[in-house]
Order: sequence, then C-alpha cells, then structure tokens
Amino acid sequence: MRFVLLSVSQFVFWNSLFIWLLAFPIISCYGQKSVANTENTKTFKVVLDAGHGGYDPGSEGKTANCKDEKHLTLEIVKKLGQQIKARMPEIEVVYTRRHDVYLKLEDRVGIAEEEDADVFLSIHCNSNPKKIIYGTQMHIHSNAAHSSKKLAHHLDKAFQNVADRKSLGIFTTKDRGFPLFVLQNTEMPSVLIETGFLSNPEEEIFLNSPDGQTKIVEAILHGLTSYFRAKNHKVTLLPVESEADERAMAKANSKAVKKLVADIEEATKRLEKVKQEAEKEEAESKKKYKIVYRVQISSSIAAIPSTHWDFEQLKKKKIPVEELVTEGDARGRRYRYFAGKTESLEQAQQLLQEVKKYNFKDAFITSFEQEIK
Ligand SMILES: [Zn+2]
Repeated sequence: MRFVLLSVSQFVFWNSLFIWLLAFPIISCYGQKSVANTENTKTFKVVLDAGHGGYDPGSEGKTANCKDEKHLTLEIVKKLGQQIKARMPEIEVVYTRRHDVYLKLEDRVGIAEEEDADVFLSIHCNSNPKKIIYGTQMHIHSNAAHSSKKLAHHLDKAFQNVADRKSLGIFTTKDRGFPLFVLQNTEMPSVLIETGFLSNPEEEIFLNSPDGQTKIVEAILHGLTSYFRAKNHKVTLLPVESEADERAMAKANSKAVKKLVADIEEATKRLEKVKQEAEKEEAESKKKYKIVYRVQISSSIAAIPSTHWDFEQLKKKKIPVEELVTEGDARGRRYRYFAGKTESLEQAQQLLQEVKKYNFKDAFITSFEQEIK
C-alpha cells in the first residue's frame, strides 16, 4: 500500500478526472440490458468496463497514429474478454460496452449490479501534464472494502510481475481526495485500473502496441486468477496458446512438406533417368550389327581433297572413296580414307589387291560394326 502526495499538476489531472467521473447526475437508469453469457458451468461473473466512449474520448492520443483512451480501453477490454472466455472456463464475461458508444457512469454501474457480478473492472489510460510520469495505478473506493483492496493488490502485483510495469500504487478515495463514481456505487469488488500514461511517449506506444496490450491483458488474467484462488475459489487459467509455437510448427510443417515434395521430385527424376537408361539399354540390346570391311588407303593429319589425283584413279574404276574423321585422338584430328565397303572378307581382299595397283601400297583391310536397321 502506498500513499501519494499530489503535486499541483497532478491536482489538475485529478481534477479533470473528477469532472469526468463525478459530474454526472446519479439518476436511476439501471434498466439497460447487457449481453451476458448464460452458460451454467460458469461460477463467477466479471464485468469489464472500457472507460469513456462515443463523444467522450478520455485522454487524447499524443503521438502520431496513437489512439485516444476510449479506443485503447475498448481494445484492451475486448482482448481481455476474449482471453477470459478462451482460458478461464469458470468465468463469465459481461461487457458494459463493446463499441465506440457513450455510456453514462450510472449505466456502467447499473450493468454490474443487474448482472450481480463478482468483480467489476474499469479499464482506463492515464494522462499527466508531466510527460515523465508513467506507471500503473489501481483505484478502489476505500480500504474498508476488503475484497476490492485484495483484488487491487493482486492486480497491482500482476502488473509488476507479469507485465513488467512500474506500479504507482493502490489509491483509495482518501488518497485521491475524491470518490470515483463507478467504485463508489458498485457493491461487488471493484477496481479502476489506470493501465498507463498516454502523456508519457514510451508508455503511450506500449499501450498502443499489440504486444503491450497483450501484456496488460495477461497481467489482469493473472491478477484475477490469484485473487479468486486466494479466496479458495477454484479458478482455472489455461496456458496461452503460443502463436510463435504455432508459427514455428507451421513453418516446420511446410519445411517438411517442401522437403518431402523435393524428395519425391528427386526420386521421380532418378526413376525417370533409370527408366530412360533401361530403355536405352533395351533398345541397344535389340540392335543388330553386321561386320563390314573397308580398305584403308590413306591417313593424314590434314584433309585430302576428294579431287586428289590418286582418288580420281579409284573413282574411274568405280571404287568409291570415303573420308572418316577421328576427333580427340592422342595425335590430334586424323583424316582416314577408305576405298569400297563390303560384307565379304573375300571381296575385301580382292579390293585390297586392286587398290594396291595404284598409289596405295600400304593399304590394309579394316572391319567395322554396322547397325542393321
Ligand atoms: Zn479514463
């Protein structure tokens, strides 16, 4: 429990808060119905009140793209409600407002009373002319309201431990110097949570950020849980489903799928190659060859023109001359010249004798494998 002395500037702030929270006439208009979850398994009911709304913006956003208090409180309250519904099976959630609408203070209190709520939480964002001031405040009506005091204590601790917030303390009417309507007029344990200062640039960004809001929501969930448990109530707080875990899982899954697809593609390619090779081998095995004989008449590192006189002599005798070029030999490119072509070795020998009569004394017979088509 802390006690706070108000400076002049703080007085200005408190005075403005006073105007907002007290200047409304206390009239009986508790007739407004709220939307309640009517599941029978719920043991406790928590009313979540997003401060301000409609033409009452609350504290104004200071930094560019930062929201007014009325929007931030609604965002936080909605996230809080979603998390309670998802992770605290014994708790029923009731909202005072779910949209950007103006709601009188007595209507907010009216909803809580009509619902016979176990806890009333009003969510706000603070402001102070001194930009350096930051931190959370838990407001209760008085120390005499023991349950409110305990609830504020659990929430205050959770804001420090779970959300790593600086606590400015728990404030009663006596500390503030004035009552707060929603706390004064609710019979159930009630806390008005000032989640941080929009006038402090760092805290304003924190309150506007999804991460900051998640931390605030988490702190309230833990504060509520420890409050109920301290009263020996069975309250469950299910662990947060880690989006990071899910993302990691999804990433790992897609990685595994990608690898599998790649493996299948690789295997398919390999199979295709094996098939092609098998087909080639089979085709090769089906091919039939015959031996043909040629008489090699000349070999040279340079091409000999077909019009060479020696070749012309053979052509006159109807003996065709064929050029065959061998690439990549150790001796380099080689031009070989052959006379005739026959499947009969006998004919080849006759041809050799014939050729030798001309200028090809070193001619010899060579055999080739030739595919039979
Ligand atoms: Zn406020």
